Amino acid sequence: MMDFYDGLNALLNHTAQADTQTIPLAQAHGLILAEDLMVRQDEPRFDNSAMDGYAVCGLNNEQWQIIGTQAAGEHHGLSLQRGQAVRIFTGAGLPENTDAVVMQENTEAHAQTLTITTQLKAGQNIRRRGESLQSGHTLIKKNTLLNAQAIGLIASQGYAEIHCYCSLRVSVFTTGDELAAAGEALACNQIFDSNRPMLTAQLLPHRFIDIADSGVLPDDLNATTSCLKQAAKNSDVIVIAGGASVGDKDFVKPALAQLGEIEHWKLSIKPGKPFGWGHIGNCKILLLPGNPVAAFVTMQLLGLPLLRRLAGLSADKAAAVAYCVAAAVDFHGSARREFLRGTVKWQENKLAVSPLMQQGSHMLSGCVDADVLIEIPPHADIKTGDVVKVYPV
Ligand code: AMP
Ligand code: MG
Repeated sequence: MMDFYDGLNALLNHTAQADTQTIPLAQAHGLILAEDLMVRQDEPRFDNSAMDGYAVCGLNNEQWQIIGTQAAGEHHGLSLQRGQAVRIFTGAGLPENTDAVVMQENTEAHAQTLTITTQLKAGQNIRRRGESLQSGHTLIKKNTLLNAQAIGLIASQGYAEIHCYCSLRVSVFTTGDELAAAGEALACNQIFDSNRPMLTAQLLPHRFIDIADSGVLPDDLNATTSCLKQAAKNSDVIVIAGGASVGDKDFVKPALAQLGEIEHWKLSIKPGKPFGWGHIGNCKILLLPGNPVAAFVTMQLLGLPLLRRLAGLSADKAAAVAYCVAAAVDFHGSARREFLRGTVKWQENKLAVSPLMQQGSHMLSGCVDADVLIEIPPHADIKTGDVVKVYPV
């Protein structure tokens, strides 16, 4: 059976699939950049003060004569001679011939006379033109997620519009005749559909995903085939949870075999073995397990990386981020790579992870308090205090 990391790499090998659009910067937060943006102007654009204080000329004087004031945004055309100073504020352009800026806490000013109570160093507290960004260099690379910081940086260069990927259209189906929606009466042996609300909630924080909650596929080949055929026409990706195992009531794979192709099915992981992917024409298909914890874990570690990638994110940023922490108990790996649900606490001067009690792949209750998924490699023998890899959830 294929290992988790081989599966992940195969998913990350996909290329961006979403269309692109030019939009106002104010609407781009959470989307993915579809062009390299260049630095239009040096940053800082002019030498300026890093402090509220005084710009001085001459480093070894006993006193300086204060000849004026310059605040941020002002321009008085001031020029200093040795022994002169200008009252200055953070972000203000420097007068000509400034040798250093001294912070006001290290000065005493009486009328127009300034005394400095510390040693001055040439260039101190001066932000030099171009020390942060140089005109003509790359500002932000294509395939970057536009977080709030990126929006700020782009705004600082005066961009009003940028070229981004459109949101990826993702249809989410659950499967099974046993499923009822909240508010419906449960017949004997029916259960409420927990996967669709959960999976859509996992996708919802991502602005580069446009979710279509597409309902339940019944356990019927014809109905499954016609629903998937229809959905593939206006989706970039179809996510299907359940119905893809080997039971007589699992019709997702036969339907996909008719409509397109299953590229891979089954990974050596626990939970989540019946995970797979494929396509119907240009529409990618993600097959998630039906068991809710398995659906959650595989969406987190495999599904989202594929969706990020298809939405335009670079491969190195699309995978889930892992950290190393200490094991708070012993762990013994099984034949499959495991992802246990755990909590992280500060313990004896380090971060240590413990598994939660309920680890069944049908037990969402044991998942709610999880801070992380604890990776236990196949047959690993991990002792308390050893380092383990965890994926925050
Ligand atoms: P399946 O992969 O369809 O055989 O489903 C595996 C297990 O997950 C069965 O116990 C299903 O009842 C359960 N299951 C499947 N889909 C859902 C869902 N949407 N919500 C809750 N449980 C589900
Ligand atoms: Mg089923």
